[in-house]
Amino acid sequence: MRPLIEQTNLEKHLDYIKETETDYSIKQEEVRFIQSGIETLVQKLYDIITEESGNRIDCKNNNILKVGSFYEGTKNKFPNEFDFIFVFQKNTPNCVDVSDKIKEKHTVLRKDLKYSENASRTICFSKFVKRQGPASKLMFIYQQDKCKDTCLYVDIVPAVKEIDAELGDSVETICKLKSFREEIVKTGSYLLVGINTPRWHSYPVTSFTETEVHFMKHTLSSKHVTVYKLLKFLIGGHGHAEIMREKIPGEGFSSYMIKIAMIEHHYECENTDSEDKGTCVLTLLEKILCYKREKNYPLLTSDTYKNIHGKSEEILEKLIESLRSMQNSTNRLKLNGKLKLKPVGKQRLVKYKRIPLVQYIVQPIIMISALVMYVCIMCLYVYINLYNWNKKNHSKVDP
Ligand SMILES: [Zn+2]
Repeated sequence: MRPLIEQTNLEKHLDYIKETETDYSIKQEEVRFIQSGIETLVQKLYDIITEESGNRIDCKNNNILKVGSFYEGTKNKFPNEFDFIFVFQKNTPNCVDVSDKIKEKHTVLRKDLKYSENASRTICFSKFVKRQGPASKLMFIYQQDKCKDTCLYVDIVPAVKEIDAELGDSVETICKLKSFREEIVKTGSYLLVGINTPRWHSYPVTSFTETEVHFMKHTLSSKHVTVYKLLKFLIGGHGHAEIMREKIPGEGFSSYMIKIAMIEHHYECENTDSEDKGTCVLTLLEKILCYKREKNYPLLTSDTYKNIHGKSEEILEKLIESLRSMQNSTNRLKLNGKLKLKPVGKQRLVKYKRIPLVQYIVQPIIMISALVMYVCIMCLYVYINLYNWNKKNHSKVDP
């Protein structure tokens, strides 16, 4: 590790971001309460929505997989998003559409899904938020003494597990990223997401989410985990990129795109013998920008991303320039408790919000002005004609 005195301005800035924007803002004991509450309630939810169908998988098997950034150890700031996969047996069509089942049982779920600790802290089910492809997004409310309520979101995706004894032979055809294939073979299985959901024509899709969790937790170095969390903040902010991508689908960079770039970087990185994060952050940001511009994003499966070019790429390019100049600057950086850079998603959202001003204020002003001018010209035309007609009549009478 470099002595502190040799730290570049970029490294100092990244350390500041890590401390203020990526590390958890609450105590471990509170994180444990939230985790155990959500897991208990999700197990109850699974039991309620499968109790009548008889499609419940034998308890010896793992029927609820814990996936996503919380379980990968890469969640930034606060544990308010949890992802689960409900694994169903292959031929159980009735149980696969989880969204319909949750909506059907909504009243029961609101009554039964409550978790508390000495009445000082509670987590309870609030509502079904929306369906995103085969995923169901649910909202839970976390209450604790004297503090305002906090929303916790849970994503549930139904899937079927493919256990393949011959995965070593077939992995080449299902995973595009060569270096990652060995990890999938070690897991011994993969998932088919969205099976038996006819309303989604592009499903089922192959998912290696179980392998991804294991990779991020056990294979990726702790420096690269920090780099990944920094990238998620520098690009996405705290949910800003997600909000932006809902407004302009396909534009910008999803956290999944960043994750794939990170996995690829793990196998290619040459900056492994130091604790310097800045070099990895810059290499990855440049690569992500390049992939997006060339429409050649690395993917684990054969599916393709919707690729829309937009202002996000310009913003990312400027961010890279700023980080690069921090890395090369010899002036001592004074942060004074302020973050010098805004995440790409946040900046893009600000630019997007300016558009309605043009649409809803400037455009109507132009239209009203044009209408007023048209009315004035018509009035002038009528007036001139009346004046001429009047003049003509008077000249006839005068002699
Ligand atoms: Zn690296």
